This record gives sequence, structure tokens and C-alpha cells, in this order.
Amino acid sequence: MNHYPEAIVKLIRHLRKLPGIGEKTAERFAMYLLAAPGQEVSALAASIAELKEKVKICNTCFCLSDSETCRICSDPSRNHSLVCAVETPADMAAIEKSGAYTGVYHVLQGLLSPMDGIGPDEIRIRELVNRVAAGKVKEIIIATSTSVEGEATSDYITRSLKSYPVKITRIASGVPMGGELKYIDQVTLKKAMEARRAV
Ligand SMILES: [Zn+2]
Repeated sequence: MNHYPEAIVKLIRHLRKLPGIGEKTAERFAMYLLAAPGQEVSALAASIAELKEKVKICNTCFCLSDSETCRICSDPSRNHSLVCAVETPADMAAIEKSGAYTGVYHVLQGLLSPMDGIGPDEIRIRELVNRVAAGKVKEIIIATSTSVEGEATSDYITRSLKSYPVKITRIASGVPMGGELKYIDQVTLKKAMEARRAV
């Protein structure tokens, strides 16, 4: 890499920090950009610069947004008394894509993981409790994953909201369609048993 001019070496060093990009790919990107029309390279550089400047975090649900309050939180046709708590903006996008949900969201921005030093103050649990304390929320759907961290987060939220008159539900989880019990992890199986319903 040292046989390249300094500007290329620098670019390769930055590109290598991106997830999944190794030395070879970074080098290919750099060579591509060097050969690409100036306009295209400028447009790419500008969109990277805009990312930090223009993408905001919604002041209500903490999702990624173009404005202070996101499109969903400012939509009067959504049910603002129903809040779905998710781990990431990507989880929120997945639920939105399903088209089956008309409430609003709360993006926790992570899951509790004491082993990694992530406690309740590191994610947006207090903000969720504050939303409930404000009095307009009637139901919280906890849609964190069924991993150990997802369950711990769900349990913590449930305990934190105990003293409020709010209904708390957990997204239906359990045995996937066609899933064989023996291939399902214990947490999932346990939850599937607990959430059993009459047939
Ligand atoms: Zn929002």
C-alpha cells in the first residue's frame, strides 16, 4: 500500500474501517473512485458529509429522522396511545414494512447487556418510562428479540412500568412455522410454552 500516493493510502485506511471491508476491497474502491467522473465522487463525498449533519434522532421515539420529530410521531392518523418498543431503527422499519401496525414506536437503541457494560442508563428505558408517566400511553408492546438480552430488557421494562396504569404486552414469539422443537433454543421454547393458548 505504501507505494501509492499519500491521498490514496489515506482513503484506503478510512475505507478499511467500514464493516466487511478488507485491504483488497478498500484498494478496489479507491481505484474505482480515482477513475470515476469528478461529479460522482463529489456527490458521494457530499452525501457522507450530510449524514452526520442532516440525520436527526426523533425527540419522541428516538428513531432516525429528517426532522426534530419524525414522520410517524407527527402523524395524527397513528394511534399515539399504543407504543411499540424495539431495539433498533431497523426493527422499526421491519414492523413498518409489514404494514400491520398503526401505533407509534420507541427505539431503545440497544438491549441490556451487563456483560458488555450496557445498563438501563445506556439505552432509552428512562425515556420510555417518561412517555408512560406523561399519561397518554395506554399500551406498550415490547418487541425486543427473544435473545437473553432481549428478554432481560423486556423484564426490566415491565418492572419499571409496574406502577403505571399501562397494559404491557410482549410480541408473539415462539415456535416458527414449520420449526422443529429440537432445533429451537431454550429461551424461545420456554417462552413458547409460557405463551401457550387454548386451541
Ligand atoms: Zn418519532
